[in-house]
Amino acid sequence: MQVCATVAEVRAARPNFATLGLVPTMGFLHEGHLSLVRASRAANAATAATLFVNPTQFGPNDDFGRYPRARERDLDLLSAAGCDLVFAPEVETMYPSGFETRIEIGGVTEGLEGSVRPGHFAGVATVVAKLFNIVQPTRAYFGQKDAQQVTVIRKLVRDLDMPVEVVVQPTVREADGLAMSSRNTYLTPEQRRDGLALWRALSSARALYEGGERSADRLRAAMAQPVAAIGATADYISIAHPLTLRELDVIGEDGALLSLAVRLGTTRLLDNILLP
Ligand code: AMP
Repeated sequence: MQVCATVAEVRAARPNFATLGLVPTMGFLHEGHLSLVRASRAANAATAATLFVNPTQFGPNDDFGRYPRARERDLDLLSAAGCDLVFAPEVETMYPSGFETRIEIGGVTEGLEGSVRPGHFAGVATVVAKLFNIVQPTRAYFGQKDAQQVTVIRKLVRDLDMPVEVVVQPTVREADGLAMSSRNTYLTPEQRRDGLALWRALSSARALYEGGERSADRLRAAMAQPVAAIGATADYISIAHPLTLRELDVIGEDGALLSLAVRLGTTRLLDNILLP
């Protein structure tokens, strides 16, 4: 496995691979990330991962400074998973002085995470565009865990005619249902137990849907209960159209994206499922 820190090193290595899958990450890897590496390996001649905690997608009150980092452990995991190339740049490599470009995507960035984290998706879209230009992958792999991010990246690729196939993989969960996240490491044992409220909320709404309920308000109310039961506040509890991410009144033929974000102390947890 080759580890690159500069754009020139990646450019020099790229012709060695007929097809290349890219797994962009912020590191502190878990099974969710490794499932993306495995999916990429199954479909491409080679797989590249990036380790980069991107400062521009964090707001002033977000956790950039304390975001967990474990570079050597991450490199070991990627090597063991069969990754061929890792791009792990410094912030100055991605954003040298004089950097002044931002990709703003409308519509799908307005609700959900976008409503709570202004500027977050401009940071994501800009860094992903840079990573695509640097690595020039055939396919790029993202997790359903970050459902709105997937929608934003699909739109980025379509609107800017990027020659990349976007592949989405299911959310990997702990045995009890908690979605794996690098941020789970922040949780105290009590918060770890409370974190299950997100999975309970999604599961109870899904059960109602499977029983025939189509009123979005009644599903939102069902999702609110487990969150209220742990005394937490949700940033949002959403039943949205799976493509436009607009809030629904009634779930129709296209189904729905059920999502929520909950604060436990200073940690924000996200989760979602697609219906049907
Ligand atoms: P991150 O390092 O958190 O930016 O995540 C890097 C990629 O891994 C993103 O495409 C995430 O959606 C994906 N990912 C994170 N957690 C999970 C998970 N539990 N299951 C599947 N994919 C995930």
